[in-house]
Amino acid sequence: MPRYICSKNANDQGHYVVHELSCDFLPTVENQVNANTHDTFQGALNFLEKVNEGRGLTFTVCEHCGLKASTTTVL
Ligand SMILES: [Zn+2]
Repeated sequence: MPRYICSKNANDQGHYVVHELSCDFLPTVENQVNANTHDTFQGALNFLEKVNEGRGLTFTVCEHCGLKASTTTVL
């Protein structure tokens, strides 16, 4: 299972971007939050929403590694 990384700081839209650890566009190490290992991006998003419940945060899948992952899932 891939390990997922969430950015510690929100992007310009106020969203927290979630990546696979292998992504070329990871935030800097100081700006990474470990989101554990999951089968899919959806699993990582569910995990992050659960541990941050009530904080009103929005998580979004990285457009680089997330697109790659969803393509893999379709195949
Ligand atoms: Zn990424």
